Amino acid sequence: MAELDLTGTEQRARAQRPGRLVVLAGPTAVGKGTVAAAIRAEHPDVWMSVSATTRPPRPGEINGVHYLFVSDEEFDQMVAQDQLLEWATVHQVARYGTPRGPVEEALAAGRPALLEIDLQGARQVRDALGRQGDVDALFVFLAPPSWEELVRRLVGRGTETEAERQRRLATAKVELAAEKEFDVTIVNREVSAAADELVALMKFGAPQGATIPPEDQ
Ligand code: 5GP
Repeated sequence: MAELDLTGTEQRARAQRPGRLVVLAGPTAVGKGTVAAAIRAEHPDVWMSVSATTRPPRPGEINGVHYLFVSDEEFDQMVAQDQLLEWATVHQVARYGTPRGPVEEALAAGRPALLEIDLQGARQVRDALGRQGDVDALFVFLAPPSWEELVRRLVGRGTETEAERQRRLATAKVELAAEKEFDVTIVNREVSAAADELVALMKFGAPQGATIPPEDQ
């Protein structure tokens, strides 16, 4: 998969433009879903894409709000009809995808739009936009405060077997290495602070406390 090949200056310039389409991704267990939930609760003016998924709803999840819960057949149909901007099988369990129409409508209306998706999806969006060329997009990596903290969040529940823990840690290592493909990193030290940083980035394009890659990277 091709990586973004921007100089530090270009990355700075991109990071400081108001982001219209903002794609949030990051390693497993970093807390993307929690940050997205905080934005939904605390910043209702931000338009967030509602993904389609084949996984069943968890308690409290509402169809059409948290996800569009669809059957395998419905998902197949969405793919066949090119209704998804991107889609991926996540954790080898369920399929998730971003419905294309609502994102295009939000952008056409000049609303900043947020996608919270996995790394595979973020790469697909980047490739799709690369071909399109006319959408102003900002790719944001949500990082853990440290590797130790990510390990703590990954294994903290104590519900996985040792083999599963090792598999997840190996995946997390690979995922962390994807940070350099992104325009900006936000460190998820505290959920509502990370949510505020992301919203500021969407609205004003000014990363408050976000890490911009240095000039010479
Ligand atoms: P969960 O099932 O815990 O809500 O989400 C599992 C994973 O699916 C998370 O890493 C989340 O970022 C990812 N995800 C949610 N929606 C989408 C989507 O539309 N596309 C892709 N590629 N990943 C998604």
